[in-house]
Amino acid sequence: MCKNHFNPIHCIIPPHMLDKLMLSDNKEIADLAVNSSFRSNRYRSDRAFFQASTDHAKTVLGVISGVTGPAVLQMSVYDNKHRTDFTHAKLLYDSTTNQAVTSKDAKNVIAGGKASWDFYFQLFGRNSIDNKGMTISQYIHYDRKMENAYWDGRRMVYGDGDGVIFASFTSDMDVIGHELTHGVTEHEANLEYSKQSGALNESFSDIFGIMIKQRFLNQDVKTADWLIGENVLKGKQYALRSMKAPGTGYVNHPLLGTDPQPATMDKYVDLPDTSQGDYGGVHINSGIPNFAFYVAAYNMGGYSWDKAGRIWYAVLTDESLAQDAQFVDVKNLSIVHAEKLFGLNSPEVTAVKQGWIAAKV
Ligand SMILES: [Zn+2]
Repeated sequence: MCKNHFNPIHCIIPPHMLDKLMLSDNKEIADLAVNSSFRSNRYRSDRAFFQASTDHAKTVLGVISGVTGPAVLQMSVYDNKHRTDFTHAKLLYDSTTNQAVTSKDAKNVIAGGKASWDFYFQLFGRNSIDNKGMTISQYIHYDRKMENAYWDGRRMVYGDGDGVIFASFTSDMDVIGHELTHGVTEHEANLEYSKQSGALNESFSDIFGIMIKQRFLNQDVKTADWLIGENVLKGKQYALRSMKAPGTGYVNHPLLGTDPQPATMDKYVDLPDTSQGDYGGVHINSGIPNFAFYVAAYNMGGYSWDKAGRIWYAVLTDESLAQDAQFVDVKNLSIVHAEKLFGLNSPEVTAVKQGWIAAKV
């Protein structure tokens, strides 16, 4: 639905949620879910084209930056005016002029884009998504009430949501950080969007998305809620996912039922590698590596990005992390990097091992 795994676009809302909404008795909700699924699927050919392009073509298309020099945030925000092509999008904000904006959605994505760029640069010296200064391009008000946000290989795209089940997809900084991190992953391990490697791709986006939010809010591992999309999914008791307790993001939601994420490997959900099966449940089984990270970070204490974040970034950018990596590969690499960064018998190594034991990997 969101993509096939050879040229995916990366959505925040998995097919199983939209499938439930398509069955709604409320015709508008059912119709919007059908439309959101269709739109999510459309841009995969663009992404395949970008991936197959030469560096020159990518520079022309803005997929990589042609700019050299000191690392500076480059960001553009466009109003897509509820259309489904990008040709009429109106430029609302450009980091070179830094003009004031009035819309809440624009303010949200500017803050999220800046927090994400700062996170990667200030902590890891990374110059934007591609580490070559790529412009962070963000499009708000895509389509009419689209129930999704996605990364298509060169831009981040946000729907307004239906206003009943989903609020605007700009409402959570972790969702913005999640989409931007799909771009980082694409330029690093480029994890195949299928089964375990696809769930790892999703998990890295949740892990870095949550850290970007926690750092922006100055929350330590104990005060943070570890929820992804708690504003995007409307209703005080609901969020899209919980990293602290996978499977409890939403419970007994009147339309969506209960969050199907497992926290442990013995509950791994073996789904078909098709669009309907979410390519082997990439948004479902991501609960397992998410939970391993949460336990590791929690046991280290302090701020998630200070220690656990450094370890997981070293894993994501390790050249030996294969495109078809399995959970156990990330487990092994996270232990190796914890040992390198903090010492062989350090508490950080113990915490990483505790994380993977808790997730039963
Ligand atoms: Zn995603």
